[in-house]
Amino acid sequence: MQIIIFGSPGVGKGTQAKILASKLDIPHISTGDILREAIKNETEIGNKAKEIVERGELVPDQIMGEIVKEVLESERCKNGFILDGFPRTTDQAKILDGILMNLDREKPCLVKLEADDSIIIDRLTSRRTCNVCNNIINLKELDDKNKCPHCGAVDSFVKRKDDTEEVIKKRLVVYHETTETMFDYYQDKANLLEVDGAQSIENVAEEVLTKLSDCRND
Ligand SMILES: [Zn+2]
Repeated sequence: MQIIIFGSPGVGKGTQAKILASKLDIPHISTGDILREAIKNETEIGNKAKEIVERGELVPDQIMGEIVKEVLESERCKNGFILDGFPRTTDQAKILDGILMNLDREKPCLVKLEADDSIIIDRLTSRRTCNVCNNIINLKELDDKNKCPHCGAVDSFVKRKDDTEEVIKKRLVVYHETTETMFDYYQDKANLLEVDGAQSIENVAEEVLTKLSDCRND
């Protein structure tokens, strides 16, 4: 099963992708992870990407596409995958089309997780990282706002610089402008599933799994 997961920043794509990967027994392919792997393993394309990253530039679509291609064509993705972080734009979607056409499998399922912008802003501005154990927590979900539920550290929470309302709003504008048009592009190229990302993690996972099994039976 080929699954592409996308949605608003901070809606919980990574969390859901991990749950799906374990329930469906297919790998979670996060573009951040595979880019770091390619660089670490010093593959030909990894070395190209490394130079670009070291210059502080964004990895161009073509190079990211080649990294994605290598992974999707590899043995570990032979039964499918959950792709997280690519494509983000219609141009990237076209690159992915070419890759999937070569794999010659069934239509991919596109899972779109969304929540109102106000919910996203609320979630992200109350997100903190524990500087002792590096786990990410949400202040709103804690009874004791000063104590890490993972390692017990006190006063260990730090806020990421980009988790301010202003930065998040900018990211949401970019999201609505680019990624959502990509959803339109996929209208007849994928099975489209829309799931309400404002629910609890468990309920989102359940709804995604139910919709995925319907889409397989179609
Ligand atoms: Zn901690």
